[in-house]
Formats: sequence, structure tokens, C-alpha cells
Amino acid sequence: MKAKLIRMTEENLNIPALEEAGEILKNGGLVGFPTETVYGLGGNALDPEASRKIYAAKGRPSDNPLIIHIADLEALPPIVREIPEKARILAEACWPGPLTMIFPKADIVPYETTGGLDTVAVRLPSNEIAREMIRRAGGYVAAPSANVSGRPSPTTAEHVAEDLGERIEMIIDGGLVQIGLESTIVDCTEETPMILRPGFLNQEKLEEILGRVELDPGLLGETAHVRPKAPGMRYRHYAPKADLSIVEGDSEAVVSEIRRLSREYRQAGKKVGIICTDETRAHYTEGTVLSIGARAEEETIARHLYEVLRQFDETQVDVIFSESFHTPQMGMAIMNRLLKAAGHRVISAGSESEEKEWEQ
Ligand code: AMP
Ligand code: MG
Repeated sequence: MKAKLIRMTEENLNIPALEEAGEILKNGGLVGFPTETVYGLGGNALDPEASRKIYAAKGRPSDNPLIIHIADLEALPPIVREIPEKARILAEACWPGPLTMIFPKADIVPYETTGGLDTVAVRLPSNEIAREMIRRAGGYVAAPSANVSGRPSPTTAEHVAEDLGERIEMIIDGGLVQIGLESTIVDCTEETPMILRPGFLNQEKLEEILGRVELDPGLLGETAHVRPKAPGMRYRHYAPKADLSIVEGDSEAVVSEIRRLSREYRQAGKKVGIICTDETRAHYTEGTVLSIGARAEEETIARHLYEVLRQFDETQVDVIFSESFHTPQMGMAIMNRLLKAAGHRVISAGSESEEKEWEQ
């Protein structure tokens, strides 16, 4: 099977193609489609067989639950047992958008979709291609990121085709995604809402809406003895083929440390890759240097992170040194993904350059 590739934009929807995608999904097939966060691998969320197919296509462990995507708020009550007050407030403020919430699941949601849990993760995306497709698919589309497990999440339709082109029926190409990082996951079933996965909507923004919001302590790499609450956050996820290290410190110290490391490794016969920003690009004169975006526009950094990591997997480098990106709004989400990719290998620039390695 080779996926049928269809192009459209949010402003100019191809309705017959969306009808076809809806039919594929209703018949238990799989469709890759754009959302504002990353591309999703969609299957009918209420069909256990479709969920099994999603796990098989991705090579994803079956205890890592899927997020159900809906197109309208009215679709929420039938799949959850209860809507906590804080979830209602958050839904009104942030949906449609890059927010996933956890609810106690209703009986019609199969355990195959929730990885055996009695809770279900739900998101109402803002991407109009996604919403129109979901409506035509019957309203409930389970969709993890459309990458093979162990690869970076896809931010273009080409990434989806690379990973899953032979395993699914259709890919809808809606161009480069807007955000580039997976949704923020919030659990509102406890007294104090908790962020299980950082994303575009950060703690500060959520606290403006809800009051106090906690961060899952399992997310902090240093306290690795606490297990993250979202099953997916426990997996190593993606590791580049080359050894990736993140260099921390103030901007000038980071640049000179990466230059020093790059020289040292090149002298030892290694091929070096560097992940930098437009602001620092000119300082690096050796190795394969890729700019991830501009610090002045942090959304460009989020949007290109996975693409840059994929590019390095195609480039024959042995080691990659990356600047760190503690940007104001999405810094936590960006660094969460980057630290995972680096297996928490951090080099501090400045005082001394010893390598710290944290267990996960
Ligand atoms: P992905 O599909 O790649 O965006 O990953 C979905 C994420 O949502 C994973 O980290 C899952 O563990 C998490 N998730 C899905 N359902 C639940 C749930 N019921 N409780 C906690 N986390 C969930
Ligand atoms: Mg994923």
C-alpha cells in the first residue's frame, strides 16, 4: 500500500478529499493529517481495531495511550464520564488549540485507545483541515504523532511519508505546521491541575486562567526517580543517530564552548554537527552548522526543532552540539524535547566543561 498524497490549505479546503479521508477512517483505515502542533496519524478512536493498527504502524508500545481528537465541544460529553469544572474553564479558554486534557473515560471509548487506562486524553485542534476531516470521520479520531516510534515527530507531510508512506492509506499535506511541538497535556481530574507534558501553552498562561497549576515532578530530568504521569513521557522517545549534547550557559560562553568542542572533536577525526540560531550562526566556521531559527522569534525555534534533528539523521555526523533554548514562552517545552533527544547530556559552558549525565 502506498499512501495517497493530497495537498490543501486551511483557507482552501478540498472537501471531496476530506470526504474520502472520512470514509477511510470510518472503514477502519489510517490517515496522516496536519494539526497546528505536529502531523497526526489518525484512526477511528471508537474502533479497537483501528487503534491496534495505529500502534502497529508506528511500532508504538500498546500501553502508551492515544489522544482522541474532536472537532467541536459538543463531541466531548459522550466520551467522558465527567467534565471537572476546571477542565470546562480551560476548554472554553484554550479550545480549539494546542491543549490536551485528561478525563475519566466513558464506556464507548475502547481500552485499546487508552492503553488500558480508565482515563482518556482529548484535544480539540484549531487546524481547519483536521477539524473538517474529524467531522467527516464520525467525530472521534485517535491520533498520535505520525512518526515511527523512535523518530522525531513530523512537522511536514514529507516527514509523514518518509516514516509511514507505505503503511497508511492517505496523507493530507497542509504544509509546515504552525507550532511544531506536541500539545500541552493537562490533568484536571485532581484538585490542583497538573501539566503532564509542556507545550505551547505554558504554566504561566494556564495559571492566568485557572489559578495554581502544578508541573508533573516526573518531567524534571534531575529527579528521575519520579515517574512521569503521562505514560508516553516515560519512554526515551527519540534519540538522534549521532551523540547529541546540549551546551548550557550564557550566550557568549556557549558559543566559545561549542567552538572549542568542535575543534577538539574534529582533531580527533570526528564529524561534528552544530545546532545554533540565526543570531549566532556566523560564529561557527567549522562542521555542519544548522540554524534552528531566530531567538528573536521563538516560534521559529519550536517549529524547526524536529526538522533539524531529522536533517542531522541524514547527515553523517558523529557528534552534535546544540545551544540551549530557554526562550520566554516555549522554553520549557523546547528544552523538554531537546533534553530527551540528548538523553539529558548537558555540558555547562563557563566555569568548567565537565559533562553531566543524568539518568532518566
Ligand atoms: P502523542 O500521541 O505522541 O502526542 O503522545 C500522546 C501523549 O499523551 C503520550 O505522552 C501519552 O502518554 C499521553 N496520554 C494519552 N492518554 C493519556 C491518559 N489517559 N493519561 C495520561 N497521559 C495520556
Ligand atoms: Mg509522539
